[in-house]
Amino acid sequence: MMYAGKIAETGARRDIFYRPQHPYTKGLLHSVPRLDLEGADLVPIDGTPPDLFSPPEGCPFTARCSYAMEVCSRVYPAVAEVSAGHRVCCWLQDERAKRALLTT
Ligand code: SF4
Repeated sequence: MMYAGKIAETGARRDIFYRPQHPYTKGLLHSVPRLDLEGADLVPIDGTPPDLFSPPEGCPFTARCSYAMEVCSRVYPAVAEVSAGHRVCCWLQDERAKRALLTT
């Protein structure tokens, strides 16, 4: 899964589809039409992609992410392995960032 030219999440299909960890991956999966739910509304991801001629510092999904923290707009997150072969670039996988989020 890529966003704004950067890898957001990688892993086996079953991990991406059934255990997504990155907010963008989750948003994309929520926006997929459900043919088994008649009349169900699509849930779009709010906002627009960043200008790639002037890419933002930090995580490029910050402006659209409902979990964004102060650090997200400043520093690009490191890759975290959440299970064997399932990797995510998101500050939500960093215990220090999560603790800071809970105390603000
Ligand atoms: S790093 Fe921050 S802004 Fe980017 S997806 Fe994770 S929580 Fe959202």
